[in-house]
Amino acid sequence: MKGAKSKEDLLKKLKERGIDFMENQDMSSYSSIKTGGKADLILFPRNEAELGLIIKLTEGVISECFRYVVGGGTNTLFKKERICVPVISFKKFDSSVSDASENYGSHENEKCGEKVMRFGAGINLSKILNYSMRHNLSGCEFFYGIPGTLGGAVKMNAGSKESSVGNIVEAIDIFDSNGSKRTVQKKDMNFSYRSLNIKGIKDNYCITSVYLKLKESSKAEIAENIKIFKERKSGQPLGEFSLGCIFKNPEGFSAGKLIEEMGFKGVSFGGASVSRKHANFIINKGGAKPSDIIFLIDNIREKALESKGIKLDTEIKIV
Ligand SMILES: Cc1cc2nc3c(=O)[nH]c(=O)nc-3n(C[C@H](O)[C@H](O)[C@H](O)COP(=O)(O)OP(=O)(O)OC[C@H]3O[C@@H](n4cnc5c(N)ncnc54)[C@H](O)[C@@H]3O)c2cc1C
Repeated sequence: MKGAKSKEDLLKKLKERGIDFMENQDMSSYSSIKTGGKADLILFPRNEAELGLIIKLTEGVISECFRYVVGGGTNTLFKKERICVPVISFKKFDSSVSDASENYGSHENEKCGEKVMRFGAGINLSKILNYSMRHNLSGCEFFYGIPGTLGGAVKMNAGSKESSVGNIVEAIDIFDSNGSKRTVQKKDMNFSYRSLNIKGIKDNYCITSVYLKLKESSKAEIAENIKIFKERKSGQPLGEFSLGCIFKNPEGFSAGKLIEEMGFKGVSFGGASVSRKHANFIINKGGAKPSDIIFLIDNIREKALESKGIKLDTEIKIV
């Protein structure tokens, strides 16, 4: 299939094929910090077939640039006032679950109670955790309190000190930037701190399915394993609008402690404020503009470099 000839042609083709889209959308609804610029076009594929079609149709239309993918938007700040590249939202994407042990597991895995489960990339981590608890499957307890979709979590290698998604991923299905579908095995995935690089694949791929290795366990053991994450989450401002931790922990330091030591706890600018509960969280107290958040980020960064000689890198994605 060829790409659409113009934006009008693209919208006509999307309508003909029954693909959901919206124009001129406020991205505050697609980011957990509830602020953001406007997207010219946001598309909502429900499955691989629709996503494949969208990738082909949007090739080179509207902008030479690629599309931008958003899952739950729990780690993404839409800073730009106007986002011209088509945004693909995984809000309505496949969130089904199935047992893929037959394709991925060995007899040995089976003997030690290991299972490989396939999840649609649109599923929320909280749903996976609930599913695992219901089916007595252990391995993803660290998902507790991490919002967002599985696709976003794989891309971010989300997790905690104890574990991160990369430790339990066996394989993923993706569409590369040209719209070719492929399965990527664990050996070709390079997971590092809050990041994933795939051997030989440019960064703008879309993850459609994720295969996670889980282990048969008991409800009591799973509940016990979750305790440590529950405790940790009680120290985070979970009821507020935020993006989780803003900065990555620099080697050997806690970014939160560093920001607290520099006196930023509770510091506000416009509608944004450094959380009093956890200094690595910036919260939207109401009416925050993306520029308010960026102002605080820049100030924290500058001070960390000046006063401590430490370069802070953002964990969040700024678009
Ligand atoms: C209150 C709170 C607590 C948090 N706690 C934690 C924590 O403990 N540990 C932690 O690691 N993170 C934490 N986070 C951050 C965030 O929840 C995770 O990074 C999460 O995995 C992001 O998922 P998402 O779907 O929201 O990603 P998004 O913000 O939508 O996207 C993140 C990145 O992934 C890409 N992406 C999204 N979906 C896909 C896809 N299907 N295919 C390809 N690329 C995709 C996006 O383009 C972007 O680059 C927290 C956030 C909040 C708000």
